[in-house]
Amino acid sequence: MDFQPQDETADSIISRDNEYLLPVYSRYAVALERGEGVYLYDTDGRRYLDLMAGLGVNALGHAHPRMVAAFADQAARVVHLSPQYSSRFPGKLAEKLCSLTQGAAGAGSGLSGVFYSTGGSEAVEGALKLARSVAHKRFGAGKYGVVSLLGSYHGRTYGSLSVTGQAKYRDDFEPGLPGVQFIQRNNIAELRAAVNDSTCAILVEPILGEGGVYECTREFLAEARRLADAHNALLIFDEIQCGLGRTGRWFAYESYGIEPDVLILGKPLGGGVPLSAILVKKEFFHGLGLAKHGSTLGGSPLACRLGLEFLSVVEEENLLPQVRETGAYLRQQLLALTEAHSFVVEARGQGLLQALELRGPGRPLAEAALEQGVMLNCIQGNIIRFLPSFLLKREHVDTAIAVLDKLLREASAGLPVAPQAATTMASV
Ligand code: PMP
Repeated sequence: MDFQPQDETADSIISRDNEYLLPVYSRYAVALERGEGVYLYDTDGRRYLDLMAGLGVNALGHAHPRMVAAFADQAARVVHLSPQYSSRFPGKLAEKLCSLTQGAAGAGSGLSGVFYSTGGSEAVEGALKLARSVAHKRFGAGKYGVVSLLGSYHGRTYGSLSVTGQAKYRDDFEPGLPGVQFIQRNNIAELRAAVNDSTCAILVEPILGEGGVYECTREFLAEARRLADAHNALLIFDEIQCGLGRTGRWFAYESYGIEPDVLILGKPLGGGVPLSAILVKKEFFHGLGLAKHGSTLGGSPLACRLGLEFLSVVEEENLLPQVRETGAYLRQQLLALTEAHSFVVEARGQGLLQALELRGPGRPLAEAALEQGVMLNCIQGNIIRFLPSFLLKREHVDTAIAVLDKLLREASAGLPVAPQAATTMASV
């Protein structure tokens, strides 16, 4: 099917979406056409600074020349194969991911096996199934408990939703998986009380992303590691949002020095093509078992080739130091906004995963910023989350901060910042 970029107005695109796409997302009133680097362009050619980055997927921005070339070359060879066949890239990417975990937590032995799927939720399912399967085989069917964190986000499928610590997402769909217990992040006493011999997994986001960008402490993660060992449970880190360079390290757990048994990755892994992975310690290599799990579309040659290209670009363009540097600058600027505006409660985060918590609804602010060419994301009703591409530089931060500064001044003065009423946006 051929298409002409200018053959339709934004209004007609938006109204067709409203007619045919289920109203599960609270969409912004913009129709996008293409992207380049940190910018997106709408159908009228208007440019936007993209700080949403496809919910953290577009870590290399848009249309990175190396990604485009790899995509085109691989598309002309083979896009998808049954996972029953071997091809060059899935194993190569798995080998590379495992090598990145060697020494990542200091003394830890690293992770040494990979299972691919498509999205984050699906990978969380795989990790839960692995934990249950390992526990069943070793200790019998009674060991199926999962300890997870209040405020966490692990996905929308039944298993991943059941372990997501936000009742508002689960409410309409109960009952979920049995045996799930939620505890307060960083509350060591609650953690100790929750974990016992019937626990098969402790599931943690080292930095809670969708929940509002809250960090776990090293002490809490160390205690989770100790308890998992003491009770033969798997320690699972969900780094779908905070991993793969987002904090300026390959993995968020590196800065804590605590190694998981299972690491879950997703979002940017396939360079924009659906790809997620669970990485497991050597002793759990056979944990799932032959024909006990699967994913038709998981780990395609195309996705894995793009995954390898993504990792190479991050390494060869030296993007991890850039994430740390731009992240530190963004943090400093957000702290300055916190000082300057009474509408801001707090700034927090690491690298290019940062948040600005507001005293009121953030959606009108995101809408107003969009009108001024800056794409922000509002989560949890009152938090602006920054999840930009790793290509972001200081000058881009300056542009965004200037827009935010103006809008926050208006908001602090009690002025309306956008015509539309605030809505709580279901965000991932
Ligand atoms: N875990 C975390 C930490 C996430 O941030 C997300 C998505 N935001 C998921 C799981 C679910 O991933 P997906 O939407 O790709 O299923």
